[in-house]
Amino acid sequence: MAFTVAIDGPAAAGKGTISKAVAARFGFAHLDTGLLYRAVGAKVIAGADPVEAALALQPDDLAGEGLRSPAVADAASRVAAIPDVRAVLVEFQRAFARREGGAVLDGRDIGTVICPEAEVKLFVTASPDARAGRRYAELVERGMEATPEGVLADVEARDARDSGRAVAPLRPAEGAVVIDTSGLTVADAVAAATAVVRAVLDGRG
Ligand code: C5P
Repeated sequence: MAFTVAIDGPAAAGKGTISKAVAARFGFAHLDTGLLYRAVGAKVIAGADPVEAALALQPDDLAGEGLRSPAVADAASRVAAIPDVRAVLVEFQRAFARREGGAVLDGRDIGTVICPEAEVKLFVTASPDARAGRRYAELVERGMEATPEGVLADVEARDARDSGRAVAPLRPAEGAVVIDTSGLTVADAVAAATAVVRAVLDGRG
């Protein structure tokens, strides 16, 4: 049985945490699609052509702490605005979405472009201040250099680029359930997402 949970939203809204928890709860596979763009961005920083880098992507490229750095995030959102880069990555994501046994994909265009037929579509968001605060704490925890002002500026610049691009801009998919995590604990946010998935699964009998 194919069953897709599409989770979109801006940077640091809680998509990753929610996606992992939902996948674990229901035994679905999980794909963090941002890693695909981060891996391409990292190769471009190292001198590669963006489309060549996307075509040459290997599973091993998706691992590594380095992909979490602000510089790679910035490069990712630049390569993500290139239509040919997105086109190269579409089929892999679609096949993952419809795999047997269920899948959770999180990103920016999962419910709008990759899998509009997803059984569950969530749009996970939070205020820029809440998101920048979380991302700052995460970077400090990983031992990376950051300032709160710098992180907020990075988050806002990436939001503007992701929402303003011509191809697959970030926006809630039709029929998406919006979860604003600004004032929610992790447990509450996960519970809200889980309840939506549970209701759809129950409705299918
Ligand atoms: O989610 P994450 O912050 O890792 O994504 C990094 C960048 O990759 C985003 O800012 C966005 O530009 C791009 N991205 C995208 N479409 C996706 C996932 C990520 O354009 N489905």
